[in-house]
Amino acid sequence: MIPAAAHIELNMAALRHNVCRAREYAPGSKVMAVIKANAYGHCLIRIAQNLSAEVDALAVARLDEAIRLRKAGIQGRILILQGFSQIDEIEALLHYQLDVVVHSEAQVQLLESVALADSITIFLKIDTGMNRLGIRPEQFSELLSRLQLCQCVRQPMVFMTHFANADDVQDVKTVQQLTVFTKATKNYAGEKCMANSAAIIAWPDTRLDWVRPGLMLYGVSPMLKGFAKQLGLLPVMSLYSRIIAIKQVKKGETVGYGATWKADKNTCLGVVSIGYGDGYPRHAKQGTPVLIGNKRAPLIGRVSMDMLTVDLNACSGVQLGDQVLLWGDGLPVEEIATCAGTIPYTLLCGITQRVQVLVKEHLSEA
Ligand SMILES: *Cc1c(COP(=O)(O)O)cnc(C)c1O
Repeated sequence: MIPAAAHIELNMAALRHNVCRAREYAPGSKVMAVIKANAYGHCLIRIAQNLSAEVDALAVARLDEAIRLRKAGIQGRILILQGFSQIDEIEALLHYQLDVVVHSEAQVQLLESVALADSITIFLKIDTGMNRLGIRPEQFSELLSRLQLCQCVRQPMVFMTHFANADDVQDVKTVQQLTVFTKATKNYAGEKCMANSAAIIAWPDTRLDWVRPGLMLYGVSPMLKGFAKQLGLLPVMSLYSRIIAIKQVKKGETVGYGATWKADKNTCLGVVSIGYGDGYPRHAKQGTPVLIGNKRAPLIGRVSMDMLTVDLNACSGVQLGDQVLLWGDGLPVEEIATCAGTIPYTLLCGITQRVQVLVKEHLSEA
């Protein structure tokens, strides 16, 4: 098979390495690997197959993602972070042996109304300040008592919350959320689960019975500032394509849609077969680097659906067909995200269907 021009390479050795890093940060905690949104664009099933033996549980956002995992033969614990909103979903939880987040009184009512043949493991989520999902701290003891009376709820439950600003090491909000959570749960038996990647790295007190790393497992820094390398993480995804045309443009000529880039001198230009139709950000600004061999070339002109153009003046010797790295091993996705005015999460999740997936089992030579 001829490999597609635009492809991602997934490095499973890097993935395993990053799981070990998460365990080093939180040695006393069980690890729940978050693989929602197609494993942050990395291919849900392949990542799950490579992770399931390495971690204590997997987490996805929605029921349908968990069912896909079960149908692909993934065993072990899976948590649904968004919970359920109908009775038939509760029945599916039991059928597929899934754990679930309970975050509202409406869900407690549903659990009180359902008769099941067996019980389900529940993560009771408290809203400690994110104000998205979760029961309010002042409702906690009442709803907990009601859930303790539900035959379909396995006891004891796990208590969880989610941080709003853990990526900002200066922000006191994380400590405030931790305080609210500790106070609400202190008189009750049950495991506790708080930390996302940023909290695992920056907020040691939040590493409780469970941690829930997402982004860091893919080898990307979750922090506001800094790069994965400084945290000892290795990128799992590398996004590649290749040069499909090389040409000279003369001083004064423009390149691409909108004619947004104008040559201030004669310029050697390379056309790369990748664009926003593959998930490369259209808003990447002029000068965003790509890596060709070990040289950086700057993006010029607008990114189009299937192509983008780079200035090759500083990269002598580039030839038709040469491989181009858009982000990954050697070019941090954090840097590209900054150039595109976004965060690494959106770039990774944005990889589209037509991008071919290649799997690599070993780390590259240093
Ligand atoms: C996505 C998510 C995580 C993982 O977050 P990262 O920043 O990727 O580590 C953890 N917990 C919940 C509830 C989430 O929605």
